[in-house]
Amino acid sequence: MDTLFISDLHLDPSRPEVIEGFLAWLDRQAGKADALYVLGDLFDVWIGDDDTAPLCHQVSQALSNCASAGTPVALMHGNRDFLIGDRFLEASACRLISDPTVIDLYGRRALLMHGDLLCTDDHDYQQTRQQVRNPDWQQSVLTQPLEERRKLGQQARAESRQSVLGKSRDIMDVNADTVAQFMAQYQTDLLIHGHTHRPHIHHTGQGQHLSTRIVLGDWHDQGSVLHASPDGKLTLEQLPLQPRQGARG
Ligand code: MN
Repeated sequence: MDTLFISDLHLDPSRPEVIEGFLAWLDRQAGKADALYVLGDLFDVWIGDDDTAPLCHQVSQALSNCASAGTPVALMHGNRDFLIGDRFLEASACRLISDPTVIDLYGRRALLMHGDLLCTDDHDYQQTRQQVRNPDWQQSVLTQPLEERRKLGQQARAESRQSVLGKSRDIMDVNADTVAQFMAQYQTDLLIHGHTHRPHIHHTGQGQHLSTRIVLGDWHDQGSVLHASPDGKLTLEQLPLQPRQGARG
């Protein structure tokens, strides 16, 4: 059985085909994988666990089914869904892992991150990140009425789209020195992350100093899944988004 890694699904009611495709995929994996890791931005926006939108319930139910079938799910916050809290985690039977986290992947140390911490050339973004990850700031948002938070969520998404337009591709990619620092600090030669939406397996160095950085893709036109098998093989798979049997076509 494999261990699976996904990130950046950006689930949102405006893209029902991605939701259907993900739920169908989850159905197929449940019980067949050793574990599933969701490395951030499962949702395009998360305004609090008390959100009554059908999507929240649908996804938590599907994740919890996956866990009951024998495939435990670990979830990391991304820069869009960092307000996911205990109530959702409990309903979905997911274990929250911090960013970064080191796991034992069939005997190999693997460092897991969402990826935004690696984008240190984007100074504006890192400043915003500090603000929104502050517990006091989060508390002040979560105590606002749901309707108000819906508006804030829309606003945050519009601002994010706007700020991306004005930035070069390089600035929004990972900084190579920061990558090397994290890998040295956590004593690992394998890093798995998402966030940049540039799926690829990068090999750097040589001999004993060979290191691997795997970037997971987003789920927009297709899915993106990293399969890690017990024999050490790592395969980044592109996945057509197929609806469930009997679901809308
Ligand atoms: Mn992200």
